[in-house]
Amino acid sequence: MSDLRELYQEVIFDHGKRPRNFGKLEGYSHSAQGFNPLCGDKITLYLKLDDGVIADAKFEGAGCAISTASASLLTEVLKGKSEADAQRLFGAFHDLVTGDRPSGEGLGKLEVLGGVREFPARVKCATLAWHTLAAALKKQTDAISTE
Ligand code: ZN
Repeated sequence: MSDLRELYQEVIFDHGKRPRNFGKLEGYSHSAQGFNPLCGDKITLYLKLDDGVIADAKFEGAGCAISTASASLLTEVLKGKSEADAQRLFGAFHDLVTGDRPSGEGLGKLEVLGGVREFPARVKCATLAWHTLAAALKKQTDAISTE
């Protein structure tokens, strides 16, 4: 278990330091801004939907390693997912980090963020990108806040 935990920390550290899909997405169809005042994390998420499928996703922003890693992993897993798939993943991810369904089964690499459930203050860092995703899909124009 401790090996697994180390691996998870490595993945979070890696994505936090070198986020994937970082930058503005040209020709995006959906976008939203999210803010976690508790930690100071801010992200802007861009999505390009094509026929109800997320063809591309990128993000910009500044935040702690957990929020950055979560947004980076999110943009990686979103590509090729339908809106309904994305909503389902959000539910499963939320259950994972709040401990309602700690197995993380079926979440793939998102599972690495499961450890935040032991640090309630960091749960909002991990879910910020996901709340922002939900706002973007709803075409919500006001910035969302986790508070
Ligand atoms: Zn944070």
